[in-house]
Amino acid sequence: MEIKREPISDFRVRQLRARDLLRGDLEGEDLERYVEERVLTTTVDKAVAWAQGNSIYPLTFGLACCAIEMMSIVGSRLDIARFGFEAFRGSPRQADLIILSGRVSIKMAPIIRRIWDQMLEPKWAISMGACCSSTGVFNNYALVPADKFMPVEVHVPGCPPRPEALAHGILKLRDKVQGRPQGKWRDRYEARGTEEIVPYNPSDDATGVNVFGSGDTAGA
Ligand code: SF4
Repeated sequence: MEIKREPISDFRVRQLRARDLLRGDLEGEDLERYVEERVLTTTVDKAVAWAQGNSIYPLTFGLACCAIEMMSIVGSRLDIARFGFEAFRGSPRQADLIILSGRVSIKMAPIIRRIWDQMLEPKWAISMGACCSSTGVFNNYALVPADKFMPVEVHVPGCPPRPEALAHGILKLRDKVQGRPQGKWRDRYEARGTEEIVPYNPSDDATGVNVFGSGDTAGA
C-alpha cells in the first residue's frame, strides 16, 4: 500500500469543506465534486471479501522448528497486526487460518485433519517450510506432505522460511481471499463427493470418529 503524505494545509481545506457539507452550505458543482470524490461503489461480495481478507484469525498451532519463526510474526519487527492477522486463536472454532509450521508425521496427520475439520468455514491453510510441503530434509516413511491429507492454499518455501517469507505468504493468501468468490473449501476446490465416509458404529468411543484407520487414506 502506498503511503501518501499530504501537507497539513490540504487537511485543513478538506476539514472546512466537510464542515460546509454538514452545514448544508455546499451546493451545485461543489457538492457534486465533493460527492464524486468520496463515494465508492462496490458489490456486497467484494466488500465481504475485502473484510475477510483483512481480518483472518490464525490458529495457535505449531509443529516444529518453523513454528518458532511463525511466532515472531506478531512481534514488533513484522507486526502482522498491520494486516489484521495477529489475533491467534486458542480454539479451531474461532480460527479461519491454520499455519502448518513444521514437519507432519503420519501419526500427527489425522490429528491435524481433525483440527482442520473443526474450523469453521470459510477457512484456509498455509504450509510453512520444506518439511510440511515436501517432507524436506526428513524425506522418509514417517512424514507426509500436508496437501496429501488436506487442502493447502499457499506454500511458503524455506528451511525455515524467514518470518518475512511467511508474511509474504500471508499477503498472497489475502490476495487470494479478496480476489475470488468465497465459499467452503470443498466448493473452492470442487471437492464435493470426496468426503470421508466413516461408518457409524455405536460402540466407537467419541475419539474414534473422523480418525483414519490403518490403511485408510484421506478423502481430500
Ligand atoms: S522446514 Fe526446516 S525449520 Fe521447518 S520444520 Fe522442517 S527442518 Fe524445521
